[in-house]
Amino acid sequence: MIAKKLTPTAVRQGWEILRQWRPALTTAEWWGVEDSFERAIGAVLVQRTTWRQAFQALTALRKAGWTQPATLAALDEAVLRQQIRPAGFYHAKAATLIRLAQWWTEAGGKEFFHTMSTLHLRQELLSIRGIGAETADLILSDALARSTFVVDAYSRRIWSRWLGITELEDDFVRRTVITTLEQRSNLSRLHALLVELGKDHCRKGKPRCVGCPLQQSCVYYRGRPQEG
Ligand code: SF4
Repeated sequence: MIAKKLTPTAVRQGWEILRQWRPALTTAEWWGVEDSFERAIGAVLVQRTTWRQAFQALTALRKAGWTQPATLAALDEAVLRQQIRPAGFYHAKAATLIRLAQWWTEAGGKEFFHTMSTLHLRQELLSIRGIGAETADLILSDALARSTFVVDAYSRRIWSRWLGITELEDDFVRRTVITTLEQRSNLSRLHALLVELGKDHCRKGKPRCVGCPLQQSCVYYRGRPQEG
């Protein structure tokens, strides 16, 4: 049966299937980056590109010694652009990174963030030009250890194909997943699992359904034209 919207039951079912699919995958392993501010930088660099390219740019910033908030905040934008070229869209990303670093520094850094509610922090991040909901939630979840869920192209595509939902409202998905899973580490891990599934199986073009852990219950798979 085709679902009209994402339900808590579907979220729980998807979570159980996916965590059994990749039981060893942790958020730390998925990122390969420990530092909070470096993860925030990574969240900006990965916009509209692959993590491989974003990580290349992050590595270049590390080599230059520019991954501290105060250092990055004071950088010349044109100089920063050259360093992050591998991530693409480097004009926009350099400007966003400097604005993010200035906000982070002026706010007092992680120590000060502890005094702010998640909602307040989210509003602050969204007020920085170049940071949309997806980037704000990725920073909140994986750099600042807050309970939120990142709704991105991977999760939209997978929920939509798996459950046969044609219209998904991002904020509804975010709230449904948060209230269903609750635990911060599970929310972050579910996002990582969806990204991995989207890269390995549920690709943008033709999905590779063979071996997909959601195949048995997937509406898209059951309705696909028979091959051969
Ligand atoms: S079975 Fe195919 S369409 Fe369904 S979620 Fe998996 S890869 Fe995507």
